[in-house]
Amino acid sequence: MGATRPGEPRTLAVANQKGGVGKTTTAINLGTALASIGERVLIIDLDPQGNASTGLGIDVDSRPRTAFDVLTGGLGLVECALATAVPGLYVVPANSDLVGVESTLTDANRPYKLRDAVAALGARQRNLPPDQQFKYILIDCPPSLNLLTLNALSAANAVLVPVQCEFFALEGISQLKESIDQIRATLNPSLEIQGVVLTMHDARTTLSREVADNVRAFFGPKVYETIIPRNTRVAEAPSHGKPILLYDFDCAGSQAYIRLATEIIEREGRNKAA
Ligand code: ADP
Ligand code: MG
Repeated sequence: MGATRPGEPRTLAVANQKGGVGKTTTAINLGTALASIGERVLIIDLDPQGNASTGLGIDVDSRPRTAFDVLTGGLGLVECALATAVPGLYVVPANSDLVGVESTLTDANRPYKLRDAVAALGARQRNLPPDQQFKYILIDCPPSLNLLTLNALSAANAVLVPVQCEFFALEGISQLKESIDQIRATLNPSLEIQGVVLTMHDARTTLSREVADNVRAFFGPKVYETIIPRNTRVAEAPSHGKPILLYDFDCAGSQAYIRLATEIIEREGRNKAA
């Protein structure tokens, strides 16, 4: 794992070019779980649909500064961050302005705008007491391998890949793995796969079990032991502008995201020690 210097947040991009696989749900709920363990977490919404912002209770009309301003206007992440209902969890929101990033950014440095913003945040935090530093940044990527996702993968120490337990799950996976290899060869040599999380798993179906087995055969120990079950409470939560842990703490989905957060922290610790 690429080393993180003092004050620098650990930056994880939640990415998969397939839509509807649980990226946003994972970013919101993993962020909430990490924050409830006591870490300060910043979610960067990098999808023009702004689902992570909405799911965290930030109205479209209450996004004065967004990820667009970070990428194109040189604004700092902290200037654009908004507090959420979860103590310790902040979000840099997004809206449809992000669609214009491709045409607005034309300079050679354009895939590195977010990386520079994360580095600036790290430098700024160095002199702050640890309890005021963001320990984790989670970037919620759009469902494509466009300039926004390139910015996320250039800025990240590692990628977290949600894979939905359904028939076409594996189709995009080898493509994503190739893209990560390509980015490692060009934009970000130290980019790692933090892990692969199986989402929307239905233990009653053979298909879910088969997909889980196939993903484990392809990615080996990179696949987390924690599997996120298909759970209607998880699907309901965003319409209430709440992470599942605030909406229904006891449901199977909440408990799975808490286990995932614990597993990720353990994995981070092991990699640091290695
Ligand atoms: P992505 O960000 O990859 O497009 P989302 O996180 O938005 O995917 O999830 C797609 C849809 O599936 C959303 O409607 C979401 O509420 C729902 N969903 C995600 N995870 C679960 C789950 N574990 N159980 C039930 N529904 C889920
Ligand atoms: Mg999404």
